[in-house]
Order: sequence, then C-alpha cells, then structure tokens
Amino acid sequence: MSILEILNKQALSKEEIKRLLAAEGDDKKLLFDKALQTKLAHLDNHVHLRGLIEYSNICTKSCLYCGVRSKNLKVSRYHLSDEEVIECAKLAHKLGYGSVALQSGERSDKAFTEKITHLVKEIKKIDNGSLGITLSLGEQSEEVYREWFEAGAHRYLLRIEASNEELYYKIHPRDEKHDFKKRLDCIDSLLKVGFQTGSGVMIGLPFQTLDDLASDLLFFKQKDVAMVGMGPFIPHPDTPLWQYKDQIPSAAERMDLTLKMIATLRLMMPEINMVAATATQTLDPQGREKAILAGANVMMPNLTPNAFRENYLIYPDKANVKDKPSQTQSKIDESLAAIGHKVLYNAWGDSMAFTKKQK
Ligand code: SAH
Repeated sequence: MSILEILNKQALSKEEIKRLLAAEGDDKKLLFDKALQTKLAHLDNHVHLRGLIEYSNICTKSCLYCGVRSKNLKVSRYHLSDEEVIECAKLAHKLGYGSVALQSGERSDKAFTEKITHLVKEIKKIDNGSLGITLSLGEQSEEVYREWFEAGAHRYLLRIEASNEELYYKIHPRDEKHDFKKRLDCIDSLLKVGFQTGSGVMIGLPFQTLDDLASDLLFFKQKDVAMVGMGPFIPHPDTPLWQYKDQIPSAAERMDLTLKMIATLRLMMPEINMVAATATQTLDPQGREKAILAGANVMMPNLTPNAFRENYLIYPDKANVKDKPSQTQSKIDESLAAIGHKVLYNAWGDSMAFTKKQK
C-alpha cells in the first residue's frame, strides 16, 4: 500500500502506523502535510496556552530517566508558597492565557493532597473562576482525584511513559512505587472521575522500538484520551538511563520521530489537544513551532518564578529557564504568526474531542 493510501484510511493498523513512523523524504512530507490539514480542518490555526507552574520538585519516586528523582541528592528541593502559586496564576490571567497547569514531583501524603485542594480553590477564586486548571501531579487515589476535580480542576495529565509493560520496567525501578498496573488504573480513575484526561510518552528512550511507539499511539486511541503530551527523551547525567546515552537515536532523530508521532496521532485523533512539549524546544530552537506544524495545538509557557526553575530540571538544558514571562509572550506571538498560527487568548481551550463527547 502506498503512503497516500495509508494517509486516506479511516483507521490505522499497527503496521500502517509503523510505516508512517518510518516515513522519510517525500513520504514524510506527505504525512506532515496531511496532519496539518487535518488539524486546521478540525481545530483551526488556534494555539491554546497553559501557564506552567512547577509547584515542587520534592518527589517520592525514582524514575530512571528523571533529573528530580528522589535518589538524585544533587537537587536542592523546594516547593512554592501559596502566595507564589497565586501570583503565577494571576500572571497567567493577566497575560490572557486562560489556563494554568500545576505540575510537581510526586507525593501522595495528606499534607500535599490537601494543599493542592486548597490551591485549586484559591486559583478558582481569581476573577470568578475564569482560569482553567490542568493538574500534572502523578499517581493518586481515586478519592484524591475526585477531591481535586470537585475543587475545580478539570484537566489532568498523566503520561503512561511507555504502554509496553516490559519497556516500562526498563525505565522505572520494579517496586510498589513504580507499578505499571497502578499507573494504568490511575488513568482509568481520572477518566471515571470526569477529568479531561491526558497521557503521553517520551520518544527515543533506550530499548524503545518503533513497534512500542505504534502501540503507544494505539493505546491513546483505545483509552480515548482527550489530550496527549509526547516529547523527546533527553538523557540527564544524574540518572541511571544516562549510561545508555550513546545507544539512543541522535537528538535530530529523536526530534524527527517526535514530529512523526504527533503527525500520526493527529490523523488518528483529529480533535484531541496535543502539546508542543518544551523538550522539543530543548533539542531544536524551532522545536515547538515544528510540533505545531506537525499537528500540536497547545503550548505550556513556564511561569514558575525564575529562581526555582533551575531546580526543576527533569532533563538538562531545559529551554527558557532564564526567560521572563513578558519576553516569552512576545516570542510566542511572533513565532506563531510566522507559521500562520495564533494564540486563542482568554479561553480555557478545552479538548474538542472531550467537549463533543460530553454533548
Ligand atoms: N510527577 C508528575 C510529573 C512528571 S514531569 C507525573 O509523574 O506525572 C512530566 C513529564 O516529564 C513526565 O511525565 C516525563 O514523561 C517527562 N520527563 C521526565 N524526565 C524526562 C527526560 N529526561 N527527558 C524528557 N522528558 C522527561
């Protein structure tokens, strides 16, 4: 079957997805063109922003890829004060972002979960609930997810990281704190509670195959998630996976594969929200724009106070650690205009796929 025939199919098989992920030259161009057309037809040229607040790097887990893993003793640990979080959220509102995303290392103790409930309620008070709230706070019980949902959060990101259980345990310790089944259950709980639920994976991990990546895309489709975040894996020197840094695809290859993953998923799920991950910008200054052109429609500009950003290095050389929000803003407007896109300001920017399902 030719690439054109595959691109015009309604449902893609695993083998067809693999063909798209392996596309090069003219075939790859056809894939990107089709993905962009599909996105524009369903979602227009709008990009939604979420002001990212990196609440805390205190983490009880030790994921083998992550720079803020608990076993990395070089990291100085912080959490933002309530005032700092509210200031970030007010700034997001003032800049017209419409939404914030609160992300953190993983804790499930009551002091933490209750603090988050409080913060969500406080953010909701800003201008009578005008900000949308996405959470990215890891695995929690269904009760906690429900408490946060009832407090006013309505979107939740929990990347599966690898939908293949074997690969999952090559990038996580095999213990009760890093249980593949639990992560799957958490995604189900989030869907059940009623969150616009997002998942995702890293691309270019050691041991990861094209077959794994095709399965990841089918997993998102099967779970019918509302949002997906996928970005290139970036090895961190203070993590166990660093030892494989010479065995993974090059930065350019990881970037290219990320774009093909985004484009392919856009064909499979035309109306979901897909983020142009900051990690793409770390590997390529134009990374986020390339991701937008491949089919992504969300960006998460960092609003964490600059003093804390260098302690939230889940991977090294993170882009924008030193930028000020106002600079970030004009850069985003300009770079999107240059590729024929624009920010949809002062809107929550919910997933169209989710909104339609609710009706
Ligand atoms: N503790 C939260 C938030 C994790 S940080 C949670 O578990 O959901 C958000 C994402 O960053 C992770 O889900 C992971 O996919 C990504 N990430 C972590 N380390 C990375 C690395 N070295 N390179 C690229 N992405 C990484």
